[in-house]
Amino acid sequence: MITGKNYIGNTLKASGKITHKTSNPKLNIENPIPFYEATDDEVDEAVKLAWSAFKDYRKVSGQKRAEFLNTIADQILALDQELIDIYTSESGLPEGRAIGERGRTIFQLRSFANLVSNEDWRENAFDAANPDREPFPKDDLRRTSIPLGPVVVFGASNFPLAFSTAGGDTASALASGCPVIVKVHEMHSGTAELVASAIVKAIEKTGMPNGVFSNLMGRGKTVGKALVEHPKVKAVGFTGSISGGRALFDIAAKRDEPIPVFAEMGSINPVIITPNAIANRAEQIASTYAGSITLGAGQFCTNPGLILTIESNKTQQFIKDLAEKTVAIDAQCMLHQNIKEGFVKQSKSISSQNGAEVVAKITGPLEDNYAPSQILSVSGKYFLANPKLHQEVFGPFSLVVRAKNETELIEIINGLEGQLTGTILAEKEDYSNLHDIIDALENRVGRIIFNGVPTGVEVCPSMQHGGPYPASTDSRFTAVGTNSIKRWVRPVSYQSFPNELLPVALKN
Ligand code: NAP
Repeated sequence: MITGKNYIGNTLKASGKITHKTSNPKLNIENPIPFYEATDDEVDEAVKLAWSAFKDYRKVSGQKRAEFLNTIADQILALDQELIDIYTSESGLPEGRAIGERGRTIFQLRSFANLVSNEDWRENAFDAANPDREPFPKDDLRRTSIPLGPVVVFGASNFPLAFSTAGGDTASALASGCPVIVKVHEMHSGTAELVASAIVKAIEKTGMPNGVFSNLMGRGKTVGKALVEHPKVKAVGFTGSISGGRALFDIAAKRDEPIPVFAEMGSINPVIITPNAIANRAEQIASTYAGSITLGAGQFCTNPGLILTIESNKTQQFIKDLAEKTVAIDAQCMLHQNIKEGFVKQSKSISSQNGAEVVAKITGPLEDNYAPSQILSVSGKYFLANPKLHQEVFGPFSLVVRAKNETELIEIINGLEGQLTGTILAEKEDYSNLHDIIDALENRVGRIIFNGVPTGVEVCPSMQHGGPYPASTDSRFTAVGTNSIKRWVRPVSYQSFPNELLPVALKN
């Protein structure tokens, strides 16, 4: 049952007076339950509990943490249809997506359980002593990774399960030995509370310390800010807008003790299509990309928002086909009225720029929160001259740029801000000419896709989901896949330590 209260550790509390309600974007109505914003005292209590839980939790064995994560997964599954119903009523996303995203959330939890059931993930290093070394003897040195401390996770609006309360950030932080305090995304507070109840049940069943997890509701500028400023918080995970991520990064940098903020933010995910690929399979590319651009109403950080081509008659025909196929797909409901309004504003701003042409757009009356998909086109010259055209439009939108030649195309890639992904669509006969494009992309993106689509992010050890700023605040780390655990640990070396005093991971 949803109460509208915050979990401060394992206890439901709501001593504040400020409330908000979620909305059902499909029906365009408010959902009935009021949710209570956490007060300053509740924020402080949650962080202090997390800090005291950290003392024990950091020592809990990998096997026990694995059991905890697997029990969270079991408890989420036990929520069954109640979770699916609240998810769809708060997000406007269809039931199939809810079930798919729950599957991914469970998979992530179990993947991290599997990862930490032995100590290899810590990448321990051992250097044996050498008492006979000249001119000085060498000491025994061993290095391991230890958890940072309480982590604040901001729930993402576009992944109410997989990047929210028990999503990838929470799963990886708990796996590493860090307590987690979630700042719920207000748009799906009910979904968050239900998932939090599953985590609390798992804490009780597996005997984890009270405070290892808290779930706080409220606004970013009050609850979110207070959490990031709290001296006992040691790291932050975030998925959302550039302005939100940057604001939190700046707050963290201004603390007496600055802490890392791992923010995954905007990306337009450039796709390069060679003239040979257009000549050989324009129709197939247009169909595949119409699907990728409109997937989930375009509300993915990997949405292909920028398509780079080289000007020709065939390219013009391809752009027309892509646009027609995109707008032939039914309009879909967006996550929230604000996100729909943002989409309309951002797409209008791009279409009003010099040289930008709307090739096709869904017109006619649409239900309130449904997005009119659209494809725009612009020459390379105008694109290069105007950074406004480089901005993300969050929704079913893509801008096709017609470069005059390959030199201009590479200049365009070099001029882009950091991106999560870059994609190359090319033919075998292009291979010997692709090195400059690959070099340019390597400097701008975190993942390069060959003859595929950027949407769809595999959860596995080799995944890189992060890129140069502003795609993320630290391009050395990933937000997806088991490697994301590295965000929450730091290395410590032990020199000349007696075996009995070494941490378990480093003993002989
Ligand atoms: P958001 O506005 O960045 O909000 C994400 C979280 O950060 C929310 O909990 C929010 O709290 C908090 N926050 C935002 N600004 C803050 C600030 N200045 N100080 C403290 N906390 C702050 O993102 P959103 O609500 O998910 O979506 C808004 C827009 O972000 C979208 O329309 C889209 O353009 C973009 N977006 C991009 C991606 C991507 O992956 N590229 C994903 C999601 C969204 P409040 O809700 O209280 O502000």
